[in-house]
Amino acid sequence: MTNTQQFANKTVLISGASVAGPALAFWLREYGFTVTVVEQAPALREGGYKVDIRGVAMEVIDRMGLSNEIRKASTDMRGGAWVDANGKPLATLGPDLIGLRSPGDDEVLRGDLARILFDASKNGVEYRFGDSITGLVEHADGVEVHFRTAAPRVFDLVIGADGMHSTVRRSVFGPEERFARHTGMAACVISVPNYLDLDHWELLHATPGKMVQVYSTQQASAKAQFIFPAPEQLPDRRDIAAQQRLVAEVFADGGWEVANLLRAMPDSPDFYFDTVSQIHLEHWSRGRVALLGDAAYCPSPLSGQGTSMALVGAYVLAGELRAAAGDHRVAFAAYQDRLREYIDANLTLGWNNATQMVAGDAKALRMQTTMLKMLRYLPWKGLALRPIIKPIEKAANAVRLRTY
Ligand SMILES: Cc1cc2nc3c(=O)[nH]c(=O)nc-3n(C[C@H](O)[C@H](O)[C@H](O)COP(=O)(O)OP(=O)(O)OC[C@H]3O[C@@H](n4cnc5c(N)ncnc54)[C@H](O)[C@@H]3O)c2cc1C
Repeated sequence: MTNTQQFANKTVLISGASVAGPALAFWLREYGFTVTVVEQAPALREGGYKVDIRGVAMEVIDRMGLSNEIRKASTDMRGGAWVDANGKPLATLGPDLIGLRSPGDDEVLRGDLARILFDASKNGVEYRFGDSITGLVEHADGVEVHFRTAAPRVFDLVIGADGMHSTVRRSVFGPEERFARHTGMAACVISVPNYLDLDHWELLHATPGKMVQVYSTQQASAKAQFIFPAPEQLPDRRDIAAQQRLVAEVFADGGWEVANLLRAMPDSPDFYFDTVSQIHLEHWSRGRVALLGDAAYCPSPLSGQGTSMALVGAYVLAGELRAAAGDHRVAFAAYQDRLREYIDANLTLGWNNATQMVAGDAKALRMQTTMLKMLRYLPWKGLALRPIIKPIEKAANAVRLRTY
């Protein structure tokens, strides 16, 4: 790859170092841009449940030369079981069926993926942890950026890869309420001791409107996810104690292992909590500022698509900047044109996945349970689930990647 190209805009500030930010930093550095990443957390954030990398996103991973790292980090799940309140299995599914994956797709812990992308991009990229953007002023030839702790600096371009509650989006495009669509659900992920002795195995327990999942790929620790209806009045995003109280109250009726998992919650080193919401924007850029990943098109944390969309978005945005020799007007327009169909397909799928994952009431739960029990007697479970897997496969491949 040649780095001698002359660019109309060369210095790029990326806000957010999770999945989208480091993936973009990787490609921009490869193409010869000068990249700075600012992340508000004091260090790379671990945590989160396992995430899928599907379809063309696996091709992006391959083009990054990271297929081996991803394979090594793969959760390698053997499968899982839906269990009733006594822990009795209602249905047992193999790894691809429980994750609704197609051949070639993979699944990793979100924290592992963030670490792999950070390690692959850190050389030659300036990472600033523990800081964030407080103000952006666009001029004809650059963007003046103000930070919480660092001195102000001017960058040619600014990219908001700072997630569903993006500060860059709020500063440049407007308040979150304008772009957010809520499913009415919330999700929380914690790390707990693997006292259930799960070995690359997942357990799922549903009650009307709520679900708890636990899995482990390591001997010592496991991840638990709680999904539940979001109350009208949500705790402040920074108030972890109030969020934990809310989860404990919602699941106070217990059942199965819920009480034990809740007891472990205060000791979790990496508590994650958010509403199950989407972000929809008509335009992903304004002037010298563009948005990427969840900041631009969050499909919701329960969609199974967000990580793939962030990886593909980063590849196309960086590639179009290179193809346009850094001309942001051309590149940002091409980024949106090339990806719109793919993003829209995945937002639609993400909405359906997120809203149908949890049975809303007792009747729906009875139907879900009956179907799960029936699966046991079907010799071709894969065939029975094909109508569910096919649309995921289609959306995950709804774009052809250019070579830049
Ligand atoms: C800790 C954590 C746990 C997660 N767990 C899950 C999960 O269990 N299931 C799931 O589907 N998705 C989860 N997600 C979201 C998932 O990572 C994304 O949906 C997807 O990978 C797209 O990534 P992204 O980089 O666009 O956004 P995100 O992964 O949300 O990353 C945004 C990054 O920007 C940083 N940031 C936010 N505001 C600022 C600011 N003002 N200045 C600087 N940096 C800022 C955040 O700290 C974060 O590192 C989690 C995200 C995080 C950060």
